[in-house]
Amino acid sequence: MPKGLKSVSYDPSTTLNAVSGLQPALLDRIRRLVEIESPSDDKASVDRCVDAVSDLAAELGGKVRRHRQRAFGDVLELRFEPAPGRKKNQPPLMLLGHLDTVWPLGTLQGMPFRIAQGRAWGPGVLDMKAGVVMGLTAIEALLATETLERPVTVLLNSDEEVGSTVSRPITEELARKCAAVFVLEPAQGLAGAYKTARKGVGDYTIRIQGVAAHAGVDFQKGHSAIHELAWQLEKVRGFTELDRGLTVNAGVIRGGTRTNVVAAEAEAEIDVRIARAKDAARVDRKFHALRVRDRSCVLHVEGGMNRPPMERSRATVALYRRAATLAEQLGFSLEEAATGGGSDGNFTAAIGVPTLDGMGAVGEGAHASHESVVLKHLLPRTSLLAEMIRTT
Ligand SMILES: [Zn+2]
Repeated sequence: MPKGLKSVSYDPSTTLNAVSGLQPALLDRIRRLVEIESPSDDKASVDRCVDAVSDLAAELGGKVRRHRQRAFGDVLELRFEPAPGRKKNQPPLMLLGHLDTVWPLGTLQGMPFRIAQGRAWGPGVLDMKAGVVMGLTAIEALLATETLERPVTVLLNSDEEVGSTVSRPITEELARKCAAVFVLEPAQGLAGAYKTARKGVGDYTIRIQGVAAHAGVDFQKGHSAIHELAWQLEKVRGFTELDRGLTVNAGVIRGGTRTNVVAAEAEAEIDVRIARAKDAARVDRKFHALRVRDRSCVLHVEGGMNRPPMERSRATVALYRRAATLAEQLGFSLEEAATGGGSDGNFTAAIGVPTLDGMGAVGEGAHASHESVVLKHLLPRTSLLAEMIRTT
């Protein structure tokens, strides 16, 4: 097809029709993946899910490469080539996702995959097995209509829910070669907004060692790790700057043994969110500048920023605007949103690759027992994804 004519002569209903024909396959594939439980901490289980997606990708004509891992499930890299004569030598487009879930083995027994009330329910259905299936099905529709215009790399990891430590270097290396990254994480809220900004995420642990003593007999010989920690946490609370989108939350504390013992140990695990990349170093300095008030206690600070923020860049906004226009042609309106949650899109955006996130399923209850995907959005969203791939 001559360049420039593409947008004039192409009717998006072609894509919609191709995707519609795949609806039964779409639902069946989502069910199949949800029924293979894949908690991040169980390599064998996640690998079974990786196997199933590899088989599906191979059926669709994709080239499969597995980046083997020891501690986590393998990282799956799939490659789809455009029809002959298309922009074969163009940088590929990346679809990014993960196959692990937060749900432990056995969850399916109490929370089986089911279709009810216009939704598909089950562990990991929204975050993000439906998104993975939507991505592959969008590619299948483009292949079937011979409208895949450039190579597509689909990268699916197995450790996203536990921080993406092993997959991050692979994601970044491959993303650097790509024209853009489309993240298959769920859309925002029931309106299903695409995500153009995400906060960066950090984790810190503060450990206090105090001096134990009998709370009745030797009170003054004791140096309470708990009281010291409480004092430190008051300081940490002051790190929050809401107007900058910077929040600090002590989500877990532990310490002490009995009420009649002055506590020798206490610790807190703290979650940090930043909206701006340049706040990372500043917050880090504040944590490392913490000093004990009770000199007989010892304080350790561990941790740091785990994901840089995905800032709302011009390139991301351009992708979103195109998506909104295509959505309109497909008959629905598309919002954009910022979120405090992190994804692997944070990594690709931070290295400067145009990244659009939230391109997966619409639903609610990720990580919760009412996790579900709204069925009526599946076809339009998969079509939009296909159109975004086709026009990039
Ligand atoms: Zn996810």
